[in-house]
Formats: sequence, structure tokens, C-alpha cells
Amino acid sequence: MQRIDRTDTEGAAMIKIENLHKRFGDLEVLKGVDLEVRAGEVVCIIGPSGSGKSTVLRCINRLEEITSGRIVVDGYDLYDPQTDINLVRTEAGMVFQQFNLFPHMTVLRNVTLGPIKVRGMTRAEADKLGKELLAKVGLAEKAQNYPDQLSGGQKQRVAIARSLALKPKVILFDEPTSALDPELVGEVLDVMKQLAKEGMTMVVVTHEMGFARDVADRVIFIDQGRIQEQNPPQAFFGNPQNPRLKDFLSRVS
Ligand code: ADP
Ligand code: MG
Repeated sequence: MQRIDRTDTEGAAMIKIENLHKRFGDLEVLKGVDLEVRAGEVVCIIGPSGSGKSTVLRCINRLEEITSGRIVVDGYDLYDPQTDINLVRTEAGMVFQQFNLFPHMTVLRNVTLGPIKVRGMTRAEADKLGKELLAKVGLAEKAQNYPDQLSGGQKQRVAIARSLALKPKVILFDEPTSALDPELVGEVLDVMKQLAKEGMTMVVVTHEMGFARDVADRVIFIDQGRIQEQNPPQAFFGNPQNPRLKDFLSRVS
């Protein structure tokens, strides 16, 4: 398997999407999306329900087949038949709205399963890493608990630790706080802010405009299957151009 563009690994584009089209039968959901995300950049994606936000993330993690276009992650062309899909999935971690933890496994096992299965770590190595990561998300004392003994915010923090355990180059967050009670949103956003500060490359689909404003390097508005506008937060929120974005912001902020 071959990296097609060495420069991609050297601080330039971590993700490069070119003219991405995706259709489900007759429904064309993505109608030519171009997007570059640099290493260490935090990009927030906002837009109306059904506009294709999740589909973009799912294409970046190859959870969907694309209709046409090209997606390069860390120098690997995702849809090149030569590309090892399992390797690529470990390059881009994903955190979902529904946490998708395994209910019959302890918190620690949920975090260590990936490193053991995918990275071939020994259980001892994985346990050490898992405990470090649980400490990082503030859940060291919950290692031996089961998911149903945790709050939603704690579950989502476990899901973030699990994603980090595969040492991804980028983490894709799909509305990570939308399923949480309002008082639990902050603890998850705080963990995400910390990751951003440490230089993790992140693409975050969110309705949390405060987070986008404070943490994003760039905010993107997707509507009708296209990127309609993108800017650093100050310009994006302070001086929106696209009428549909203006309308959207007037309804959510
Ligand atoms: P968003 O995340 O912005 O709410 P999605 O990317 O989930 O939007 O969906 C975009 C559109 O694609 C919606 O109209 C949705 O119904 C449709 N869609 C998503 N996944 C599928 C699928 N597997 N099969 C058919 N239609 C789908
Ligand atoms: Mg969605």
C-alpha cells in the first residue's frame, strides 16, 4: 500500500476531500464537497438536519462507499482498492452521538479491545494505556464499572478514550453531545477542548455554537449537499454571507 503524496504527512493536509459525491439511490446527498483539514486543525461542521453532515464523516472513515471523488487521509487514498481499510479506520477515529459501548464489558475492556485486536498489543500493555486514557478523560476510578453504571457524559468520555486508544491521526465527532442531558454536555466538551489544545486533528459535527466559536479554527456550513460557507469562527458567526447560513444562525444561536 502506497502513500500517494508524502507532503500530506508533513503538516499540510491531514484530510483532503476532492469533489465528493454521494448518492443513496436517487437521492444525491453530497453534490461535490471539497475540503482540506490540516494537521492539528479543529474544524466544526454545522448545518440543518439531513444536509449530509454525518455522511461526510462516514465517508472519511469509509463507513460508506462514495459515488465519486477522492478522499485522502494522512496520505492514503481511502478508496484506492490497494488501501488497507482496517489500517485506514485506525487513522481516523470516530465518536458517535450514541456511544456504542459494549454493555457486557467493563469500561477498561471497552477501551483496550481495539488496541489488543487491531494493534496487537498485549493485555498488559493495553491495560496500561487504557488506564492512562481513562485518567485523561477523568474516569480512572470507573475502570472496572460497566457502561450502564455510568452517566451519559461519562459514557461519552469512555467512547473518546476508546477512540484515542487506537492512536488515530484524526478524530471525527458526530454530534457527540446531542444525546446528553444539558448538564452533562460541558464535561464532554471540556475533554474535547483539551484534545484540541494538545494538537489533535478534529472534525466535529455539532450544534454547540459556543464550542465552535471557542475551539474551532474553522467553521463550515453544509446545506443542500454542499459546503456553502467556511471561515474562522469570528468571521463565520460575526459576518455570515450566505442567506441560508444567516437564517440558520438566527434560529440556533
Ligand atoms: P445530517 O447528518 O446532516 O443530518 P445525513 O448525512 O445523516 O444528514 O443524511 C443526509 C441525507 O441522506 C438524509 O436525507 C438521509 O435521510 C439520507 N441518508 C443517510 N444515510 C442513508 C442511507 N444509508 N440510505 C438512504 N438514505 C440515507
Ligand atoms: Mg447527522
